[in-house]
Amino acid sequence: MTPLDFDAQHLWHPYTNVADPGPMHLVTGAEGVWLTCSDGTRMIDAMSSWWCAIHGHRHPAITTAMKQQIDTMPHVMFGGLTHTPAIELGRKLVALLPDGLNRIFYCDSGSVSVEVAMKMAVQYQMARGHDGKVEFATTRGGYHGDTWKAMSVCDPENGMHGLFRGALSIQHFIPRPPIRIDDVWPQDPAANGLAALECLLRDKGRQIAALIVEPVVQGAGGMYFYHPGWLRGARALCDAHDVLLILDEIATGFGRTGRLFAMDHAGVVPDILCLGKALTGGHISFAAAVANETVARGIGESAAGVFMHGPTYMANPLACVAGVASLGLLEDQGWQRQVGDIEAQLRAELEAARGLAGVADVRVLGAIGVIEMHDTVDPRIAHSLAPETGVWLRPFARNIYCMPPYIISPDELSRVTSAMVALARGAP
Ligand SMILES: *Cc1c(COP(=O)(O)O)cnc(C)c1O
Repeated sequence: MTPLDFDAQHLWHPYTNVADPGPMHLVTGAEGVWLTCSDGTRMIDAMSSWWCAIHGHRHPAITTAMKQQIDTMPHVMFGGLTHTPAIELGRKLVALLPDGLNRIFYCDSGSVSVEVAMKMAVQYQMARGHDGKVEFATTRGGYHGDTWKAMSVCDPENGMHGLFRGALSIQHFIPRPPIRIDDVWPQDPAANGLAALECLLRDKGRQIAALIVEPVVQGAGGMYFYHPGWLRGARALCDAHDVLLILDEIATGFGRTGRLFAMDHAGVVPDILCLGKALTGGHISFAAAVANETVARGIGESAAGVFMHGPTYMANPLACVAGVASLGLLEDQGWQRQVGDIEAQLRAELEAARGLAGVADVRVLGAIGVIEMHDTVDPRIAHSLAPETGVWLRPFARNIYCMPPYIISPDELSRVTSAMVALARGAP
């Protein structure tokens, strides 16, 4: 049996039918923006491997740190023990994050950090004697991960988990923020979407522990960019109704939207923040839920006295040093120019798709470029074209998009935009 035959017969792939997995490429190497396949084909990873590899693959600063760490101490438990990698990463995060967000809970993946954040919110409310505040508010069009509580706050109809609706906790959904990032912000709450949130919090606030949203960019829920004014209003409404604000920056954190964090577009600071994806520069799974002092101290005063969560591989040192190295690479601020240049080039080159038959919208924010089609795009078409175009794209739903590594060159990015436009032209 060839390796690819074995894969097709035995291995699950994400969001893929085992009986009809479609074209599959055997990748043997990754360096910078390039992936190399077993047959020698090379393709540009325009996805940054699901939005993580912001410095490109195998950045020497990150791999060297991980190699040194693996020879010293690949892992120890975090209960009662600590280590320099966890402390160094914590120092870097506290320095980068807005004042107030300073209690870091390390987790294994983005979805787990969402679970942790939601659990923190509930335990905090209980500690204050608000036992009834166990539900969550969110917007439509969101995506927060694949685990159960995270699924319950994904878009209930168009999201990836609509299928499980009957098995999920019922949460409170309001329409997605209606004003797009480039549009004029109307002060009228009925027009800017905040009236719906106010109405929900007024009616149900006593049952709601927290509002959870992705700031400014809804990622896997539809690559939708909304006006930061909505976040400012949401922060004020949460405060007025005694509801915590959780921001999920797993997709947007670490420069992707042109600001270090998407919440910086709004100048809003949440009570709990979720980080993941690019935290290790795409080298190993890792995430964090970061709370403010009020939430952390409040939980300490709960009946349990402690926060009831503790992953086996919490604060894995290999992941921590990858995080330290990746954040170190962001420190010289070079990413700002890189992301700015990518944004300008995406704006110029993706214009070619506007007006094509089948194209509904073209939009760009930071190092995110999107061609939204009227109809669903089959990712398998993109996968089969990739060896020919030399560009690895994985569209989802109606979106052909790229989130390239920040180090991509202008020539390489032009190949990406050409492949995206070609796919939009060819898409049925
Ligand atoms: C990817 C993503 C998650 C889930 O992260 P995993 O590491 O895949 O579990 C949660 N929220 C957002 C906004 C994401 O983009």
